[in-house]
Amino acid sequence: MKVIVLGAGVVGVTSAYQLAKAGHEVTVVDRQEGPALETSFANAGEVSFGYCSPWAAPGIPLKAMKWLFMDHAPLILRPKMDTAMLSWMAQMLRNCTSERYAINKSRMLRIADYARVSLAEVRAETGIAYDERMQGTLQLFRTRQQLDASAKDVKALAADGVPYEVLDPEGCIRVEPALRHVREKIVGGLLTPKDETGDCFKFTNALALKAAELGAKFVYGTNIKALDVEGGTVRGVVTDRETLRADAVVVALGSYSPMLVKQFDIRLPVYPVKGYSLTIPIVDAARAPESTVMDETYKIAITRLGDRIRVGGMAEISGYTNDLGQKRRATLEHSVTDLFPGGDVSKADFWSGLRPMTPDGTPVIGATKVKGLFLNTGHGTLGWTMSCGSAKLISDLVGGRKPEIDATDLAVSRYA
Ligand SMILES: Cc1cc2nc3c(=O)[nH]c(=O)nc-3n(C[C@H](O)[C@H](O)[C@H](O)COP(=O)(O)OP(=O)(O)OC[C@H]3O[C@@H](n4cnc5c(N)ncnc54)[C@H](O)[C@@H]3O)c2cc1C
Repeated sequence: MKVIVLGAGVVGVTSAYQLAKAGHEVTVVDRQEGPALETSFANAGEVSFGYCSPWAAPGIPLKAMKWLFMDHAPLILRPKMDTAMLSWMAQMLRNCTSERYAINKSRMLRIADYARVSLAEVRAETGIAYDERMQGTLQLFRTRQQLDASAKDVKALAADGVPYEVLDPEGCIRVEPALRHVREKIVGGLLTPKDETGDCFKFTNALALKAAELGAKFVYGTNIKALDVEGGTVRGVVTDRETLRADAVVVALGSYSPMLVKQFDIRLPVYPVKGYSLTIPIVDAARAPESTVMDETYKIAITRLGDRIRVGGMAEISGYTNDLGQKRRATLEHSVTDLFPGGDVSKADFWSGLRPMTPDGTPVIGATKVKGLFLNTGHGTLGWTMSCGSAKLISDLVGGRKPEIDATDLAVSRYA
């Protein structure tokens, strides 16, 4: 079958790899000059199978109000008269009940657990390297209140069968030795030892080469304008260069996915939530992290990627803009230098990306009412983590095979 994958971010490339492996004739189209040059470029590098929770949770509306007024705020809200933004926020609020949270979380965990196995398979069959480490995520608490509040996370991890360890400051130092220099700043931590880390950009680029070896074609520097649909069936894709023909099309355009499908009355509630990162060269490895440390106070992830530290976080709801504000940079610098001053911040690369967020936190994976048109998008905060699992799912769905895990509640029809 001829399949076109729209988007060469981590979601598009992993999908292309699985589709090519399944024997399809695959073409990937992207406006950039290579893979992973938008949101998949410099994310926080966490492959966090254990820490898979929707942002929409009970108590979040109140917490969000507090975050808005904090120094080094983890949440920034710039409301606009934008119906997409307002309706997305209203849907997000509706998902903050205990009942919705439990459903959404179980869906996310299902995909993440499948992604864990799928990523290991991809690693074994391709041998690609991407500054990967398998040393877990340490959620770091600076206050007694944070440690006490983690009791409900511990309960949830136990109920979901996710391995974890509650650590005192000495335990944290055992896992992350550089923390011994800031012993007085920490009261404890929660370790999810099965989590991994890795550079999403390196992974996506290496996997694109493997997909090409399997026959996938990559068409870069090409703007996707519209879908070509006749009689309710997709026939191809109209780009600024040519019209490409296909039997099936997979939309993996991240935050830009809703615009393309809107004309077919497919209401895809994906909205951009901007985040920021700094990539810092390490000058003193003894004061750098070993794996990922989540600084609970600022909701910032600090990750070791080879000879660099990647620090990323913040959620800014301000529409489709990648502007870089110096205030945000100051927040990232503050969090990383306070705990791991082993990098040269003056030489850091500052970046922002738009997380393609759904209001329920779960990606949209599956068929649409247009025959042959599939969606693999809306991976939000954990697109790198979930990519390999959702790629296998979409490949099975496109090929008409029964997926290895239940995907019936992941399609866009769940919003109907
Ligand atoms: C600060 C930050 C930290 C994060 N940290 C983590 C983390 O630690 N772990 C984790 O799992 N996830 C993390 N994420 C989330 C993760 O990065 C995203 O979920 C993931 O990159 C989304 O991948 P994607 O392929 O869907 O989107 P993208 O990477 O944005 O890919 C979409 C592609 O579509 C192309 N495109 C869009 N419109 C068009 C068009 N009209 N024509 C042609 N091409 C088009 C773009 O060029 C782009 O290449 C983080 C995100 C941010 C912003």
